[in-house]
Amino acid sequence: MSQINRSPKTYDVCVIGSGAGGGMAAKILTEGGLNVVMLEAGPQIYPEKDYKMLMWPYDLPHRGAGIGGRASENFSEFLAPNGAWQIDGEPYTSAEGANFQWFRSRIVGGRTNHWGRIALRFAPVDFQSKTRDGLGDDWPITYDDLAPYYDKVESYIGVFGTKENVSSAPDGVFLPPPKPRCTEILIKKACDKLNVTCIPARLAILTKAHNGRLPCHYCGQCSRGCTTASNFSSSQVLLPPAMATGKLTLLTGVMAREIVVGKDGKAEAVSYIDKATRTEKRVYAKAIVVAASACESARLLLNSKSVLFPDGLGNSTGNVG
Ligand SMILES: Cc1cc2nc3c(=O)[nH]c(=O)nc-3n(C[C@H](O)[C@H](O)[C@H](O)COP(=O)(O)OP(=O)(O)OC[C@H]3O[C@@H](n4cnc5c(N)ncnc54)[C@H](O)[C@@H]3O)c2cc1C
Ligand code: SF4
Repeated sequence: MSQINRSPKTYDVCVIGSGAGGGMAAKILTEGGLNVVMLEAGPQIYPEKDYKMLMWPYDLPHRGAGIGGRASENFSEFLAPNGAWQIDGEPYTSAEGANFQWFRSRIVGGRTNHWGRIALRFAPVDFQSKTRDGLGDDWPITYDDLAPYYDKVESYIGVFGTKENVSSAPDGVFLPPPKPRCTEILIKKACDKLNVTCIPARLAILTKAHNGRLPCHYCGQCSRGCTTASNFSSSQVLLPPAMATGKLTLLTGVMAREIVVGKDGKAEAVSYIDKATRTEKRVYAKAIVVAASACESARLLLNSKSVLFPDGLGNSTGNVG
């Protein structure tokens, strides 16, 4: 490994990952006046070039048949953007008999470039799984603690839905839903007859202009990427306002390898691999937000071993992740 370069400055915060969690952290922190550096393992994304919205099959190398001949895995070339949600050459294991698939998206915006935009809240009961069915643990916070933040997120990103008072799917701050299609009206009628709850979906798609973004024009191409940013992605909705503050430094193609802890036991830097130059560098920050997705965040914490933390960071229980 070549020499580790120290960054010339200490940022207020280093955010690792630019997806749903990292993007929101960067927006809030930069708008609050902090200097933030963001480390993202994947490349930058350019909607006008990378999104396949309104393209014809003959515009694509394999007429949309499938990336690397993987049409059977549903990885059509039409899928936005750049290579679907599995990472070639990076195997993982899963327990025998388990069919766990580790969906990842290594690109600016992470999996928010791919997600189905179904934007549901946890219900109060979801915070009490141990009490309810003996599985897992109860959360140390309740739905009521989190609800004001759901309000804020929905108000900003735009989610359509209807107030229904269903206990397993709490109501939120909603834009009006789109009008139902004929089939949906028929299904609703049948459900009502059978006394089955049938309500409009709750999706992070704009049914009217919202916070400077255009409403959906119902082209039905969401999975190809939305060039009008009418649905939510971190890359189109969270990172632009963060960049506009002038306080966000976004480093792409850099893989955080280890969180470095100082003598006082506090995290003080992140060591990362610059994939283009294959060199290891270090960036210093007063605080570090680990938002590399659930599994990759756990991996990073486990890789962050030191004399003070021989089993990795945040792992005093041995159960990190
Ligand atoms: C096909 C698909 C459909 C989905 N549909 C829905 C849905 O309808 N509703 C819903 O609620 N959820 C859905 N999800 C899940 C949702 O997208 C994720 O829960 C959410 O994006 C997680 O946010 P995150 O910030 O934790 O991680 P991500 O959005 O995955 O972002 C993590 C980022 O960290 C980067 N990274 C990883 N490791 C490192 C490292 N070591 N150094 C630097 N950067 C790193 C990655 O490149 C990535 O950009 C879907 C996911 C997929 C794949
Ligand atoms: S959000 Fe609307 S405009 Fe954007 S791709 Fe989806 S259907 Fe088309």
